[in-house]
Amino acid sequence: MNNVHCMFCGHAIDLGDAYNDYEGPLRCSVCKSLMMVRVEQGHLRSMAASPQVGAAPKVQRSQSPTT
Ligand SMILES: [Zn+2]
Repeated sequence: MNNVHCMFCGHAIDLGDAYNDYEGPLRCSVCKSLMMVRVEQGHLRSMAASPQVGAAPKVQRSQSPTT
């Protein structure tokens, strides 16, 4: 049984046999954070925080001159 620990909240995410060879996004069921993981032969090779964490991007409006 494979599991990885969420890099944000530390929750142990159960991967199972389907993730013995997997590369892609993985979402924590507790804090809903999205990570990019790479698993080879049942071992976690790399983990990185996904740049897109579900939050809507902030839109900066250019201020119109007040004249
Ligand atoms: Zn988490």
